[in-house]
Amino acid sequence: MNVVTAQINRQALIHNIQVIKSLVPDSKIVAVVKANGYGHGLYLVANTLDPYVDAFAAARISEAISLRDRGIKKPIILLEGFYEPSDVPLLAKYDLDTAVHDMEQLEAIEQAELVSPVRCWLKIDIGMHRLGAAPDEIAEMKVRLEQCVNVQKPLGLISHLSVADTPSEYAYNEEQIAYFFKVAEGFNGPLCLANSAGILRWPKSHTDWVRPGVILYGISPFTGKTGSDFNLEPVMTLKSSLIAVRKVKRGAKVGYGAAWTAPRDTVIGIVATGYGDGYPRTAPNGTPVWVNGRLVPTAGHVCMDMLFVDLGPNANDKVGDKAVLWGKEVPVERVAELCGTIPYELVCRIMPRVNVETL
Ligand SMILES: *Cc1c(COP(=O)(O)O)cnc(C)c1O
Repeated sequence: MNVVTAQINRQALIHNIQVIKSLVPDSKIVAVVKANGYGHGLYLVANTLDPYVDAFAAARISEAISLRDRGIKKPIILLEGFYEPSDVPLLAKYDLDTAVHDMEQLEAIEQAELVSPVRCWLKIDIGMHRLGAAPDEIAEMKVRLEQCVNVQKPLGLISHLSVADTPSEYAYNEEQIAYFFKVAEGFNGPLCLANSAGILRWPKSHTDWVRPGVILYGISPFTGKTGSDFNLEPVMTLKSSLIAVRKVKRGAKVGYGAAWTAPRDTVIGIVATGYGDGYPRTAPNGTPVWVNGRLVPTAGHVCMDMLFVDLGPNANDKVGDKAVLWGKEVPVERVAELCGTIPYELVCRIMPRVNVETL
């Protein structure tokens, strides 16, 4: 029987990168593969995209090193840079690009003894207030990086949009982009700004390099939209099987805490997927699950290993029948919205016990 499986469709990944390239024909593409390729498999994603992209981006140095160990040769950018001065020699050893977002990182690079200089991207804060040089630090950091023997020239400039996906913050986004370009006037190196939302909605934010993340995986960065609204295809299908089918009477209290009561005599299906697999426990009653060509609603609290669906009084579904929790049949964006979260979180929380199947 088909136990819970994340099916990863490599053709969809290739389709999506081609859609992205058509949107930014003049930009180089940094494929963001942090958090295990947004839960899709770090190496599987990187290896599939390698012929189509110019670079990769990771959040942790361990992610970058494991890509190098498995033979990925394209540039890899550490979006937050390194966390410890003792990691600086690893940048040179593994030929990793690093963001430099504060004085501590700058000093660690200046003080390191390296076999070869590293490629650096000065990271500036344009409005997120998370990482990045403040306005009064930029000039000094730029000069010191440009003069540092441990830094390859030219120096890159990188930043991150905080509201490109938030329509109500239109003006704030414009302000961030304008500020980025103002700082960029003093730079002759590569510029890198747009995330997925910037690529889709803000042509002004397209610079020589762009950094798509979630859209690579066929997922919309905008609430209320799905990837298909942008001609993207979902890369992950989370699927499982019915492991029990049972009749219950009207008034039956189903699951832990009796969180769902049958409104009529009906047939309940038990799907072998739970929060121990990464399906969110916050999914409310009524979250759609695909079974035998139709959408049926979840009923009751999601358990660790199982969840309930109301198959309806006339159901003919059988043990072993396939259930799709998200994928083409059920947009992960829709499940996320019902759960009060974003699809990014759902896909990157897939648990290690889930089988991976590649298409
Ligand atoms: C995660 C991340 C991205 C990709 O964001 P998406 O919304 O998934 O496209 C780009 N840049 C930085 C700095 C990030 O942390």
